[in-house]
Amino acid sequence: MIVLKFGGTSVGSSSAIRRVGSIIQERLEKQPFVVVSAVGGVTDRLFELRDLCLEKQAWEDSFASLCGIHRTILEELELDVQLVDGLLEELKGLLGELAAAGECTPRMLDHLVSFGERMSSRLVAGHLQTLGIESCAVDAFDAGLVTDGRFQRARPLDDVNSRIQEACRSLTGVVVATGYIARDEEGNITTLGRGGSDYTASIFGAALGSEEIQIWTDVDGVMTADPRIVENARPLATLSFEEAAELAFYGARVIHPATMIPAVDKDIPIRVLNTHRPDFPGTLILADLAEDARGVKSITSKSHVSVVNVVAPRMLDQYGFLARVADVFSRFEVVVDIIATSEVSIAFTTQGGGRLDSAIDELKEFCRVDVYHDREQISVVGEDIRDRIGFASEVFDVLGELKVNVELISFGATRINLSFLVGEGQAADVVRGLHKRLFES
Ligand code: ADP
Ligand code: ASP
Ligand code: MG
Repeated sequence: MIVLKFGGTSVGSSSAIRRVGSIIQERLEKQPFVVVSAVGGVTDRLFELRDLCLEKQAWEDSFASLCGIHRTILEELELDVQLVDGLLEELKGLLGELAAAGECTPRMLDHLVSFGERMSSRLVAGHLQTLGIESCAVDAFDAGLVTDGRFQRARPLDDVNSRIQEACRSLTGVVVATGYIARDEEGNITTLGRGGSDYTASIFGAALGSEEIQIWTDVDGVMTADPRIVENARPLATLSFEEAAELAFYGARVIHPATMIPAVDKDIPIRVLNTHRPDFPGTLILADLAEDARGVKSITSKSHVSVVNVVAPRMLDQYGFLARVADVFSRFEVVVDIIATSEVSIAFTTQGGGRLDSAIDELKEFCRVDVYHDREQISVVGEDIRDRIGFASEVFDVLGELKVNVELISFGATRINLSFLVGEGQAADVVRGLHKRLFES
């Protein structure tokens, strides 16, 4: 069997869903298990609705347009326009409660944003049925996807594979499961984090013994850079799991960083494909690359990175300082990206998350802390780049030409990643400059 995951734009309109229908139809002999994201833009809109409710602003028009988006697709697909009315009613009730309470707990937020995928899965399964394909829409939690209770960043329980196998045994036809959402053991709806449907696909792929996990999106695969930043970016034929995980973690939105974990476990290849060009082979992500497929692969960037600089002169010559600082970040669940150290100070980069402010308050109890926000982080990724003589100088040469100052560097921690920090608003030019030098000359 194979798992096929379709992202937001791939299910973003009736014509997109028709394309998805033919992709699935042509792969029926592979026994597809389908995972879908919410209709493009719907999850963002659900977050906006939360904001409107909390700010005591009128949310009814925005809700009505959300209803309109789904009903128009249903109508154009010649399905029952009332197919998701039950879910829309439930959503409306929840919005009313939020507005009245004036608060939205993390638990309520995951319940709220779950409606996107719960509706899109019904649209896609409904369309498959009109094509004469036996199909059912299933909420991932009814297909065994149970997580811990960490709302907005839940992770599957250790025994998720057996739960999924058990729950899926009774399902027949092409299953269209919701991406992104799950449930904890108490029955609360949880989510895997923004962009988490890719992760859902690989969780199901690993549990069900998929021969390949296919991530269908709106570009030709994982590319040498984000095509929205670099016009000449081109698709990559292959990537290693490690390269893909680094790229995703360091900002390439095309695939969720956790997607590789279940695939590595079961050694299942992931393929990133373009819904608009189903015959294009896309990018194959697998465990080992041939020698000639190594080398620099892709440049990625992320913004809104904070640097936390911890200075403690009295710690000179003492051990245990780094552990103490790391312990604070761990307790406040702050994810650290890059670390650079000197004799009396340590610099960390983070995209926030967790409770960064509280962590900083605690650090201030035993050292001086300077924080700089809105830095931009650039990563160049590729197997073995660490071992290529002259590679780093080529990268920094470009920065010199662009007159961009490097604020922090991380190189050598893995064979495959060179990351550095630049000032606000500089990343796009640097990515373009590096792309030109590394891929276009
Ligand atoms: P989906 O809705 O299908 O999950 P996303 O919007 O999450 O799609 O991811 C696809 C987008 O990722 C592309 O449109 C592209 O702009 C962006 N992207 C960022 N970095 C890369 C990269 N290295 N290769 C391909 N796409 C990238
Ligand atoms: N719909 C969710 C989001 O927009 C999950 C996903 O698309 O993967 O983040
Ligand atoms: Mg995505």
